[in-house]
Amino acid sequence: MASANYGSTTFNVGGRAYPLTDHAFDVVVVGAGGAGLRATLGMAEQGLRTACITKVFPTRSHTVAAQGGIAASLKNMTPDSWQWHMFDTVKGSDWLGDTDAMEYLAREAPAAVYELEHYGVPFSRTEDGRIYQRPFGGHMQNYGEGPPVQRTCAAADRTGHAILHTLYGQSLKHNAQFFVEYFALDMIMSEDGVVTGVIAWNLDDGTLHRFRAKMVVMATGGYGRTYFSATSAHTCTGDGGGMVARAGLPLQDMEFVQFHPTGIYGSGCLITEGARGEGGYLVNSEGERFMERYAPSAKDLASRDVVSRCMTIEIREGRGVGKDKDHIFLHLDHLDPALLHERLPGISESAKIFAGVDVTRDPIPVLPTVHYNMGGIPTNYWGEALSPTADDPSRIQPGLMAVGEAGCASVHGANRLGSNSLIDLVVFGRAAAIRAGQILDPDAPVPTANEASCEKIVARFDRIRHANGAIPTADLRLEMQRAMQEDAAVFRTQATLESGCRRLDAIYKKQADLKVTDRSLIWNTDLVETLELENLVANAITTVYGAEARKESRGAHAREDYKDGPFGGRDDVNWRKHTLSWLDEDGTVRLDYRPVVTEPLTAYEDGGIDPKKIAPKARVY
Ligand SMILES: Cc1cc2nc3c(=O)[nH]c(=O)nc-3n(C[C@H](O)[C@H](O)[C@H](O)COP(=O)(O)OP(=O)(O)OC[C@H]3O[C@@H](n4cnc5c(N)ncnc54)[C@H](O)[C@@H]3O)c2cc1C
Repeated sequence: MASANYGSTTFNVGGRAYPLTDHAFDVVVVGAGGAGLRATLGMAEQGLRTACITKVFPTRSHTVAAQGGIAASLKNMTPDSWQWHMFDTVKGSDWLGDTDAMEYLAREAPAAVYELEHYGVPFSRTEDGRIYQRPFGGHMQNYGEGPPVQRTCAAADRTGHAILHTLYGQSLKHNAQFFVEYFALDMIMSEDGVVTGVIAWNLDDGTLHRFRAKMVVMATGGYGRTYFSATSAHTCTGDGGGMVARAGLPLQDMEFVQFHPTGIYGSGCLITEGARGEGGYLVNSEGERFMERYAPSAKDLASRDVVSRCMTIEIREGRGVGKDKDHIFLHLDHLDPALLHERLPGISESAKIFAGVDVTRDPIPVLPTVHYNMGGIPTNYWGEALSPTADDPSRIQPGLMAVGEAGCASVHGANRLGSNSLIDLVVFGRAAAIRAGQILDPDAPVPTANEASCEKIVARFDRIRHANGAIPTADLRLEMQRAMQEDAAVFRTQATLESGCRRLDAIYKKQADLKVTDRSLIWNTDLVETLELENLVANAITTVYGAEARKESRGAHAREDYKDGPFGGRDDVNWRKHTLSWLDEDGTVRLDYRPVVTEPLTAYEDGGIDPKKIAPKARVY
């Protein structure tokens, strides 16, 4: 379907003319990863005129790198139920997730996976032809009391690749219009604070485009690249969070950053948890399977925050491997080579390329590496963005939705379980489309664009394009990544977090002194990276401030100065609440809090789940 392309408007800033090509849609989705594509396809299916804008070609989105699988209680290989999945998610979140959203996720998961199967995802199969499912960390039978459950549906160790390619194919079938290699700069805000579109830069021909819309859906992925060592792609720069913060809207729970236990030492490339799901285990320099000591029942399949902390303790206490005793070994060499070939071909290849290891003979050197952002743009379980006020903690922000890693529904709370992100993408991408179908009127006019807001966006773009200070973008990015890696790591203390705040304050100010050397508008990677850096800094500074303020340990936020008490430093009386952070233009971070949703949708009804089961308790594996 052609967009209503009705001419152009020119803005003059800095003595330069910037013509903006106009487009009007019912919905503009920013991002074409799993979440963006599922939302786009659903929106188009509802008969909404939909545009999908993406800075990389859709199938190059980070979702393509997802390896291990997607969680759903299909019960193909072990007993399972959506209630057990919900319980594991609640416990995994360390009781910070919103209970209604977690119920929705677990209940809808099986249907969402069958839908993917029908769309054409080539899942691995059991002997009798059903979808193959593997064990994954923190997913257990019988409300955490039984053995690991086989819940993670997999297409070998290339599940994200299979899902992303399938969803892109499906999206093309519908009348969604793709704007590929367009970089979204900022959201257009009406005078009364409604989101009414975005402005994007076409990287290929240098033109600027104004997309007016009744609904903008942020599906821009995570901000792993705020850290020095991350499993995420270089494109995971939290652009959606940056745009939302610049629009004066809040971000939520930014301090919860997941470290994956098994990034390859040195490169940070991921070795999926599926490797431990298939029987792999970790050892220290004494050859000991140390996870047995820390998590006697789940062992190597305890949840990620737990395993990452145990590895860090082993290294700190001098039991790391290698000449600097600074990493851990992951053994797969006891597994049948045929199984490795069939179920883990991708990581066998990665281990060879990035660590020079033949997994059938030698262990892989691994280290906890930044992997996932639990925080993001706050939403309800329909994907509608929230802009809470003191009177209304669930106030909906008109004109904005967020899905996938960019959003915070919040189903992952303080710690995400492995394979719960891919399912989050499709369940909530679909939910956002259903909701948009209910609340948007295709016959209503598309809102006009507030000229002052557009001019501000273009002026910022021009300012960065002509930035002529002293600091190269790459230098400031490295400074930020080192600060985050050192001061907001697996373990945190008041001292490191205060240092992180001070360092990020200084980095925020140094942005005024950035230098961009390439002034052109066509494939200007220098300018792209500088725009991305500003987004990264917005995410990083809200992360350290949120972390400094949170005086407890919960999930991935492990403070060494708060580790006593029945729940190991978790303080449900004072801190079972979501952090909200607003970033002012001068770099001030303002914090406030909103209550966790503790009531499920209908899970307590007719034999669903016993409320006592999901009440907060100590989190042991
Ligand atoms: C190596 C790796 C393995 C993983 N394995 C698993 C797994 O097995 N199971 C699981 O559940 N989870 C896994 N995860 C997590 C999961 O893959 C991600 O959380 C998820 O794929 C994120 O999807 P998304 O759609 O939110 O964003 P992404 O896939 O990151 O896509 C973001 C999209 O936004 C677009 N975009 C961003 N900024 C802009 C902008 N300014 N303008 C225009 N477009 C923009 C990009 O072009 C891209 O299309 C893994 C993650 C990694 C890094």
